[in-house]
Amino acid sequence: MTADDLTATGPAADGPGIILVPHTHWDREWYEPHEVFRLRLVHVLDDVITRLETDPEFRFTLDGQTAAIEDYLQIRPEMRERVTALVRAGRLAIGPFLILLDEFCCDGETIVRNLELGIERAERLGGAMGVGYLPDMFGHTAQMPQILRGFGIEHAALWRGVPAAVTEHAFTWRAPDGSAVRTEYLFDGYGSALDLFAPGRLAELATAYREETRSWYGDDPVLGMFGTDHMAPPPELMDTVRAHNQAAAAAGAPTIQVATLADYLTSSEGAGPVVTGELRSHARGNLLPGVFSIRTNLKAAMARAELTLTQAERLAALYSSEDHRSFFDLAWYRVVECTAHDSITGCGVDATADQVAARLDNAAQIGRAVTERVLGRLAAEVPSDAYLLANTLPWARPVQAEIVVPGDGDTSPGQVLAALPEALGEETMTSPELVKILRRIHGRELFGQQVNGYTWGEGSLAFTVGEVARGSFDLAALTAEIEAAAGADPQGEQQWLVTTTAEPRRRVIVTAEVPALGHVSVRPGSGADETADTARVSATPLSVTGDRASAVVATDGTLTVTGPDGTTLTGVGRLVDSGDRGDSYNYGPLVHAPLLDRPTSVHTEVLADGPVRAAVEVTRRYDLPLGVDAEDRDRRVEKTEELAVRMVAEVRAGEPFVRLRLSLVNTVADHRLRLHVPVAGRVEHSFGAGQFDVTRRGRTAEGGWGEFPLPTFPATSFVSAGKAHVLLRKLTEYEVVDGPDGDELALTLLRAVGMMSVNVHPLRDEPAGSEIPVPGAQYLGTEVVTDLAVLPAAGGWERAEVARWAEHFRHEALVVRGRAPAGGELPGPAAGPELTGPAVLSSLRSVADGGADRLEARLVSMSAAEQDVRLTAPGASPGPGASQGSAGSGWQVTDLRGQPTGADVRSPLRAGEVRTLRAG
Ligand SMILES: [Zn+2]
Repeated sequence: MTADDLTATGPAADGPGIILVPHTHWDREWYEPHEVFRLRLVHVLDDVITRLETDPEFRFTLDGQTAAIEDYLQIRPEMRERVTALVRAGRLAIGPFLILLDEFCCDGETIVRNLELGIERAERLGGAMGVGYLPDMFGHTAQMPQILRGFGIEHAALWRGVPAAVTEHAFTWRAPDGSAVRTEYLFDGYGSALDLFAPGRLAELATAYREETRSWYGDDPVLGMFGTDHMAPPPELMDTVRAHNQAAAAAGAPTIQVATLADYLTSSEGAGPVVTGELRSHARGNLLPGVFSIRTNLKAAMARAELTLTQAERLAALYSSEDHRSFFDLAWYRVVECTAHDSITGCGVDATADQVAARLDNAAQIGRAVTERVLGRLAAEVPSDAYLLANTLPWARPVQAEIVVPGDGDTSPGQVLAALPEALGEETMTSPELVKILRRIHGRELFGQQVNGYTWGEGSLAFTVGEVARGSFDLAALTAEIEAAAGADPQGEQQWLVTTTAEPRRRVIVTAEVPALGHVSVRPGSGADETADTARVSATPLSVTGDRASAVVATDGTLTVTGPDGTTLTGVGRLVDSGDRGDSYNYGPLVHAPLLDRPTSVHTEVLADGPVRAAVEVTRRYDLPLGVDAEDRDRRVEKTEELAVRMVAEVRAGEPFVRLRLSLVNTVADHRLRLHVPVAGRVEHSFGAGQFDVTRRGRTAEGGWGEFPLPTFPATSFVSAGKAHVLLRKLTEYEVVDGPDGDELALTLLRAVGMMSVNVHPLRDEPAGSEIPVPGAQYLGTEVVTDLAVLPAAGGWERAEVARWAEHFRHEALVVRGRAPAGGELPGPAAGPELTGPAVLSSLRSVADGGADRLEARLVSMSAAEQDVRLTAPGASPGPGASQGSAGSGWQVTDLRGQPTGADVRSPLRAGEVRTLRAG
């Protein structure tokens, strides 16, 4: 039996009428946590595997995600060989994804890692299905065709998001760079054939279905997807099909062949109409766009894990000879697990959300551990009165870092943020109790500082500690003195006042120019850091003024923000609150509830006043209704509670934008809070960046079915409209709305509801799940922090280099204190590959390639046109003396699997192109 043997169930001479694909759709966690669903999975697969082995005509498609079979084999390791035999025979189709992700709730690099892990693990079990099966996710990102092609996958199959213009069962789905996959449109969902199997009516219903769907299929065989969530096909399925086929010819009914999805697609021909870019139409299926704003802390945790891991990979590849790839594999597995379309989306129960958060934290911890190890080894060469600053971006740039330095008054180098407390400890002890002090001292560390001396006085023992160890400290001598004091006073009649005093120290900001993907050492106060002598940046209680951007606070707490080209946006940061009677899937507006945007009080305070960083905190308080009225869900209750929102507006020397940090602890239920940014005029389009694309979107979305097409959209890296460009650090939901003076970007800071899905929803006909309470999604008492930055500029995002600034905003410099003896010579700077041209670096890591370790880099075009983009070769000095002409000659262009494509590394980067390079 081979994979392409489609004659098993005996079709009529003119070919099968219906190709039936038995499968199950396995949401790995959702309205139950993972382990509950896994127990069901193991029993379902025990049954499916037995039937595959006993009935040679049976086929099964395991949902396009390798994690399902991995989860099974963790519990049934003894089944590995039997599973592998079925996969090899083409009868059990697994992969290619590790997880059926939500394509918008993670970044492009994570989608690549998803396929990489899924295919690698499927190949260990006999091979991956060569179909990008995306049955249930809530819309599809623009670059998915290019990503699939990069893994050699030519087919996709999907349901939601396809525009109404597609009226055939297959279409050509094209990415922004022009690469395309033939896409099977599951217009009837992934359970299209279930209804045909009503008892005793298969011939009749199959005949009717063949005719009903003729406008879609023409003379092509009909694809009958036979499966639903968390279920195995019924045991009599194959007998029913065989009995049907024996009588089909006589009854004039279409014959039915049982196959895998791969069998059906690879035997299909014709590519149908072309659809370019993202699939976010509500025309024939729900997109459930409210998932982008629910449980926003999960989205922050995803972004943090992705950033921490990609940074750690860069540092480990360039600056460590140790092999941490197994740690990265584990961490990426955790991240990818969380991308599932009922996981990171936040539309599961609270237990699911808790586990997603824990896994993401776990992945970020692995990234942090590697980073600390790599930087710690570099810091071993740096004196302890100096710091190592690392830049994880592929271009040289000035960075700011907060450090703690000794000194007071005018002796502190850099911009002083705060003097730190000097009295760290004061307590009274008897003589025998003094020994406790010895237990607190580790080496010479006490209260996180270094012991630099101690003095005995009349009834007192006073320690002096400092940031940097100076002179010697003899723990043995102290031990002897304390034991002598205790021995002289065994009854404890003497009282000792024990104090620990820190030498004066301050938290300061130092700035330094750091090479591309490199690091420098800085000794504060030595003149090596580049903190400006002259005030370039300043603050008053009502303004922050930088050298390129500034903000003025109005009486209502909103900001007037001015950018480097003089573009001014007025009313930035207005907060608009509305009731939400919806659920985790969809925002639900109220008929009788006005929008609330007037604070009851506004308070401002200067947090930093230059010369390199200025920040003002604006605290606004609002009286908000406690929740939606249970009696009339179109009203909010009258009783209110105060909600305080702190907004720190900050400018840094050299930066063309104003940073905003919004923080709040939620106090009321059933509401959506959005931050508005005026765009200075009227706009027809917005641009949302994420998943390797800057996606242009209109003011409306296509509807036509049971869900109102609310034009709220996702953005991960930045969003632009008109003259407003907002840099982001996590997936953020946005909408372009009418404002009092022109259009505004409305960015959701918080959406709080209490039900997973509600049956009666003002914007959606059909429930998205069961009515299960999810009190955790109300975020009551939960802190939400949102970092973003506003860059006003005319001429569009590309001209203002918004993509590069978004990277700068996301990648803060990493800083670590030196570990060598204080006072030594500073090591010189180091640099990695340098990128020039309008592109960003998605990944740089060490990969195993044919037994050798190679450096791999992935660049993503950030231009609507073809552009020259160069990444200098690894090891080449990107300094002023380096020859850009020969840059890049050390790289080879590969596909996403690492196979050389033969393309010239010097060829221009196409608009929308994702290019992978391997060194050597
Ligand atoms: Zn699903």
